[in-house]
Amino acid sequence: MFSQINIFLNPHLTPTVLILFLSYTLISLGAIFLIRKRMTKKTPLYILLIISVIFCGLILGGSAHPALPSQLFWNSLFNFSRAVLSEYDQILSFFYLMLLILGLFILSTFFVGRTFCGYACPLGAAQELVSRLNVKTGKKTARLVNFSDKVLIPLRLIFFISMIILAISWGVNLYNQINPLPGFNVIRNYLNIINLFFPLSLLLGTLILSIFIYRPFCRLICPFGTISWITSHFSLYKMNRNDKCTDCGKCEIVCPTSEAYRDSNKSECYLCNRCKEICPFDAIELTRKKTRR
Ligand code: SF4
Ligand code: SF4
Ligand code: SF4
Repeated sequence: MFSQINIFLNPHLTPTVLILFLSYTLISLGAIFLIRKRMTKKTPLYILLIISVIFCGLILGGSAHPALPSQLFWNSLFNFSRAVLSEYDQILSFFYLMLLILGLFILSTFFVGRTFCGYACPLGAAQELVSRLNVKTGKKTARLVNFSDKVLIPLRLIFFISMIILAISWGVNLYNQINPLPGFNVIRNYLNIINLFFPLSLLLGTLILSIFIYRPFCRLICPFGTISWITSHFSLYKMNRNDKCTDCGKCEIVCPTSEAYRDSNKSECYLCNRCKEICPFDAIELTRKKTRR
């Protein structure tokens, strides 16, 4: 547990602050491009995704990623119950830091939904890029498998609730066992590549799966994916249809999360922009207006 504290509390806090700043810049740019209709072509989207993979992932190692505090917040509750008095200050500062980082990312979801997941998270960006590769399997292009809510919601909640129970009851860090993010350190720590073998395998496995399943890690495992799925229900801005819509249904076919239909609450929308790219009538916008029924 205390080795995890080093991620945030050691003298090398600069990457954490830098990555927070960069994440918020990418969140803002993603939202502004969508609201101002600058995302009509794929280029701005690809640029943001590649910046996220290179800078937040490969250069800064994803150190201030909201999935970590989503887990460590619960571990610090366990540590409180076991700590002696002299350790309280250290655990309390850690607890506040987790709360602050997590709170900052959750806050963004109340305004513009999953823009962190859509544009700033290096793991999300890498999965998004792979999902757009249109890899051929045999003579056909691999189609993205979508989960129905009946499968997705129970699986996601089972992992999330198990993570909380194991953390609070026994101090287990379940997320850490299957976290592919450290795999991004492959360039920074190339001399220690042996130690990165497991996270790197997880990362590569996730990316290979992303050819066939849309964002498998985000949708099944990531604890921040579950938190933002809940909070994005209340997001101020969502991908909405305007009056130009003719109900042709093209956006619904292309959406990898089945969120493009008219009265969807968009809680699982990663703002991937596929619906807008395919719409022949420029009828989709990121707006505050409620979806018409
Ligand atoms: S859900 Fe996906 S994109 Fe969002 S924080 Fe988790 S890994 Fe990143
Ligand atoms: S693709 Fe455009 S016009 Fe067709 S249903 Fe979707 S929003 Fe409406
Ligand atoms: S295609 Fe689906 S997930 Fe992507 S932006 Fe549109 S509604 Fe959201």
